[in-house]
Amino acid sequence: MTKLLGVIGDPIAHSMSPLIHNGWLRDMGFNATYEAMHVPEGAFESALQTLSKRDILGVNVTLPHKHAALAASSEASVEAATIGAANTLSYLGQQKWRADNTDAPGFLAALGAADPDTDRVVIMGAGGSARALVFALAQSGFPITVLNRTISKAEALCSELGNDKTVYGAMSQYKDHIESATIVINTTSMGYDGNIIDLPVGADRLFFDISYGKTAAPQIAHAAARGWRTRDGLTMLVAQAACSFEIWFGEKPDQAAAQRRCEIALRAVS
Ligand code: NDP
Repeated sequence: MTKLLGVIGDPIAHSMSPLIHNGWLRDMGFNATYEAMHVPEGAFESALQTLSKRDILGVNVTLPHKHAALAASSEASVEAATIGAANTLSYLGQQKWRADNTDAPGFLAALGAADPDTDRVVIMGAGGSARALVFALAQSGFPITVLNRTISKAEALCSELGNDKTVYGAMSQYKDHIESATIVINTTSMGYDGNIIDLPVGADRLFFDISYGKTAAPQIAHAAARGWRTRDGLTMLVAQAACSFEIWFGEKPDQAAAQRRCEIALRAVS
């Protein structure tokens, strides 16, 4: 019997997760298929009930359901419970689900070599994705500054998930904060509106935008032109998907192969 996997969200048509996971399922010979599932806000629990009547193995969860996914689960990893959001559910049977959050380990894997003793990180944005990043970096001991347009959200995020070296500030003051940073991470969704952050000279520091494709391209091009080393969010997307796949199947998939498939697909639509 072919097992079912998928990603639940709204919007979901743009998701690259089916491309990533179906490639791995095919390459590794698992008898399963991964579908994009459009589920509007408020309909998450009934979608899980419907799925539990099928041969479901698990689902990824994206906006706007990451909080609902945690709430609907009967057990959760420490990471998901602390961050307050889940992006990976595994079906346990009898309408019970386990919640994990692979955004945090996926982000750390994509960040690569970084040193909490020498690096200073500025995170722009305090939305859902920033929660996973602050959790991951604070646990690893990094000094972090969280900047947000709505400063109260940055304050709340830091007090919930930060460490004793975490501070917050207003997005409007970003140039002051960036001065002493070695790594700047953009988690805002402003790229969707065609806006970019005007960066000072990078001098070979790292600028990591967790968006990817057309959304991130103008910001990444601007950062590169200012002398920053740049990274977009595709590596993080693939890394968090690989963590989910390993939870479901107990085997590590080929991330480089998935990254290549995504790059080809993104080039085709740009
Ligand atoms: P949220 O909606 O939860 O948060 C959006 C953030 O952007 C808020 O901090 C908001 O500030 C800020 N913002 C939006 N518009 C502006 C603006 N014009 N100026 C300044 N700040 C602005 O989104 P998420 O955190 O869930 O996602 C953010 C981005 O990260 C998306 O592009 C998403 O695709 C990407 N992402 C990538 C992942 C990956 O694996 N690569 C995983 C998850 C997300 P305020 O609080 O003031 O409204």
